[in-house]
Amino acid sequence: MPLNGEVRTRFVADAMLGSLCRKLRALGFDTSYYKAGSDSGMIEAALAQKRIILTSDRSLAALASSKGLGAILLAGKSDEERISAMSRAAAASGTRLVRGDPLCSLCGCELATLRRIDVSDEVPLAVISHHRVFYRCRGCGHLYWRGSHWKKLSSLSRRLEPK
Ligand SMILES: [Zn+2]
Repeated sequence: MPLNGEVRTRFVADAMLGSLCRKLRALGFDTSYYKAGSDSGMIEAALAQKRIILTSDRSLAALASSKGLGAILLAGKSDEERISAMSRAAAASGTRLVRGDPLCSLCGCELATLRRIDVSDEVPLAVISHHRVFYRCRGCGHLYWRGSHWKKLSSLSRRLEPK
């Protein structure tokens, strides 16, 4: 997905939203995961790195808004509901959500595209024979291919489209 000079939307997800964080990275959003630490520490990180806060904590969302930071309060029960809620909240505040190519869901780094021959000694034969293109994280080295979770991502991606 070409960015045309636009910068990906940057998020920071709170400790309760680990699986959402992984999905947002795979969808191409620059998302950091704030696993541990104080609310004020998370707010400082969001300010310094120009990130929109994603949280299910009402008081944290209110504190962030009082500091003039973008914050989206996510009350949904599933990541699917949360992603729909993000799309509605962004539309309501006039914020465009900009995605780039998929990022590593584990660490958020960019992925390099590889050919079959580059990974033939690392991937099971059944996988090699069904896929032409593979992706390796430039950060942690994790290897990806377009398996079943890719289909799930495209259905999540539809939830981001404005209704
Ligand atoms: Zn990685």
